[in-house]
Amino acid sequence: MILPQPFRSDATERLQELINSKPTPFLALDLSVIQTRYEELEKGFPLADIFYAVKANPADEVIQLLADQGSSFDIASPQELDKVLKCGVDPQRMSYGNTIKKSSAVKYFYEKGVRLYATDSEADLRNIAEHAPGSKVYIRVLTDGSEGADWPLSRKFGCNPEMAVELAVQARDLGLIPYGVSFHVGSQQRDIDVWDGAIAKVKVIFERLKQEFNIQMQMINMGGGFPAKYLQKTNEFTTYAEEIARFLKEDFGDDVPHIILEPGRSLVGDAGVIVSEVVLISRKSSTALERWVYTDVGMFNGLIETLGEAIKYPIATSREGAEEEVILAGPTCDSLDIMYEQHKYELPLSLEIGDHIFWFSTGAYTTSYSSIEFNGFPPLEYYIL
Ligand SMILES: *Cc1c(COP(=O)(O)O)cnc(C)c1O
Repeated sequence: MILPQPFRSDATERLQELINSKPTPFLALDLSVIQTRYEELEKGFPLADIFYAVKANPADEVIQLLADQGSSFDIASPQELDKVLKCGVDPQRMSYGNTIKKSSAVKYFYEKGVRLYATDSEADLRNIAEHAPGSKVYIRVLTDGSEGADWPLSRKFGCNPEMAVELAVQARDLGLIPYGVSFHVGSQQRDIDVWDGAIAKVKVIFERLKQEFNIQMQMINMGGGFPAKYLQKTNEFTTYAEEIARFLKEDFGDDVPHIILEPGRSLVGDAGVIVSEVVLISRKSSTALERWVYTDVGMFNGLIETLGEAIKYPIATSREGAEEEVILAGPTCDSLDIMYEQHKYELPLSLEIGDHIFWFSTGAYTTSYSSIEFNGFPPLEYYIL
């Protein structure tokens, strides 16, 4: 098994050491890939501030690497805040991006020095005004672009543009600084045009606030949504950057506001490979055409984004030769724990119990989504390559 690009050339050797010494399943991360992706992002959006969405992969090493690169951080809970603070990041480089917060959490963020908050409702805005007085707030708007996204994020968060205007005015009246507008077009968004519609919506909100309320918004937070490399094809990142720059220019001309990006998946996804072991191979009848391949990684210890077969990871084994369609399932006693049944992965007929299966582009939303002890299986372990 030789690790393909974009892994470092000596990463294969290091992975082999891990395979020889550690129990499976585990995630192995090549930090150099994250660094490369970060540099590509900076180059694609030279004027933007990058706020890494910590939930994608909260490993200390990942946070530290990005902190050293100069990244800022999008944080969703006091526990994430503690993690990022521990890496020595200045609270001025953090935002509390979750629109669902306890007042105790707002208080905690404020005490620690965070002064930038997302909101999408009046109750949350009042909560911020009370416990984080004088802070900057940005209003999250709904986008109708969950189509095209393999892992939609839009419906639960955001308010309509009319309400965004009202919240910005209220924010000012409550002594907060109405600073900007945010959106998230859905994670692993393959339709770039969705950004066009979202930016146009922001433009209308900015104009109304300026003209009717004399409020000058200063920032657009364009969230995440940039892709990692899974089976479903996407445009190159450079195409995303060029197109989105064009949309901004069309709507804002030479007066483009301060831009914030909150990438998660696109920064860390391709940096990871999960190594798993085949626990069982079976057929459901003597004439069944398909083999079931059960691995020690599944829905509940890292692969939850295969739910509905939304994310299709590239897979490899150490075997070669003729291949056959399989159904891939995890190790737990839950029938939800089937990764791929509709989409037919083909694996070598020579595959045997005890062989390894490698799951590529699994650096995002795997360790952080892993359950604690369903059926006693421990959370997904990770190592740095
Ligand atoms: C999860 C999340 C992100 C990251 O999205 P990706 O599609 O992984 O880049 C960014 N912003 C917010 C508010 C999020 O909740």
